[in-house]
Amino acid sequence: MAEKAADKKNIPESDWKQKLTPEQYYVTRQAGTEPPFTGEYWDHHEPGTYACVCCGAPLFDAGTKFDSGSGWPSFYQPQDADNVEMHSDATHGMMRTEVRCAKCEAHLGHVFDDGPRPTGLRFCINSASLKHVPADEK
Ligand code: FE
Repeated sequence: MAEKAADKKNIPESDWKQKLTPEQYYVTRQAGTEPPFTGEYWDHHEPGTYACVCCGAPLFDAGTKFDSGSGWPSFYQPQDADNVEMHSDATHGMMRTEVRCAKCEAHLGHVFDDGPRPTGLRFCINSASLKHVPADEK
């Protein structure tokens, strides 16, 4: 727990700006959204893990990715529930549940309850928040 707090505190925003592309910074650190059907991963089908683009925490397994038709990478569950955090989000005139990286607080996207089996959840995640790690590099 102490380590988790340190991870968040010790990285100033200026460092994120250096480390990330402008779009990655806008999405992950400013809770932005990439336009649908534009990201690197909405139509990406390789096996492996999708890690946090900021801190590298493993977030979603490619085996739980499904085609939601939304234009954003969509998963029915996180790889490890401890690696994501949910926050209620009332911006843009909607009540939504925001999904963040539990380790570095990167904004990832939102979760909705209209997903497929077995969870019924749809984690609607920005490509800009993710880095795909192929299965053989795990
Ligand atoms: Fe992270």
